[in-house]
Amino acid sequence: VLEARGIVKRFGALTVLHGIDLALAGGEVVSIIGPSGSGKSTFIRCMNMLEAPDAGEIRFRGRQVGSSFRGKGDRLGQGELRRHVGMVFQHFNLFPHMSVLENVIEGPTTVQRKPRKEAVDIAMDYIAKVGLAEKRDARPDQLSGGQKQRVAIARALTMQPDALLLDEITSALDPELVGEVLGVVRGLAEQGMTMVIVTHEISFAADVSDRVVFMEGGRIAEQGSPDGILRNPDNERLKTFLARFH
Ligand code: ATP
Ligand code: MG
Repeated sequence: VLEARGIVKRFGALTVLHGIDLALAGGEVVSIIGPSGSGKSTFIRCMNMLEAPDAGEIRFRGRQVGSSFRGKGDRLGQGELRRHVGMVFQHFNLFPHMSVLENVIEGPTTVQRKPRKEAVDIAMDYIAKVGLAEKRDARPDQLSGGQKQRVAIARALTMQPDALLLDEITSALDPELVGEVLGVVRGLAEQGMTMVIVTHEISFAADVSDRVVFMEGGRIAEQGSPDGILRNPDNERLKTFLARFH
């Protein structure tokens, strides 16, 4: 459903992505691992055009996406892409002055222009799904980190995306809160949500992924099944990288 072809990204003189290809099939869960600075965040941001690639293209359901496209014919505008492809970040980016419910319905009411009542119904479904029904009126500062991140996931789901991009969504959390957030993501994977997950949680990636991609220096250095990549790696740099997590 979502495809990156030959993505190149530069920041000034620094080339951060050297031509990345990744095609995501419907229902597929792909984890991206790799050292700090290898370009994981930059790449996942390119996948929903939060960063504009310097070369290459993003395709959604076969249609090329462009910042200047207006979503006509076989081309898709980036706003339209983001309605179909949700993203959750390391830092939850919730609106601090709004309640849980207001945060979650913000997208559907403003971006999708849904009537408030309909947005609330959908939102409450997802808020319940992430286990926070009783917190609907709480403000973010009244929530734990894990709860805030679950709100961010509910907010992304309420847009009813075709795919979700998750960028290290547990790395800002205290260790005891990681499990509840990964549990929600595991549930989504089991229900067939298409996802790209950037993570340092290696055993979680091994469990939920159909495919694991190892990035290094702005390139895909290795990819394959969780068994091949995480349990029986034969790439020396990948081995060295994984050894840090044992
Ligand atoms: P981490 O595991 O630490 O999150 P990462 O793999 O996500 O790392 P990126 O954040 O994609 O790595 O960064 C890749 C490279 O691009 C780094 O060298 C970083 O300094 C550089 N970079 C990222 N964003 C910018 C920017 N807005 N301007 C300039 N350089 C940037
Ligand atoms: Mg990153």
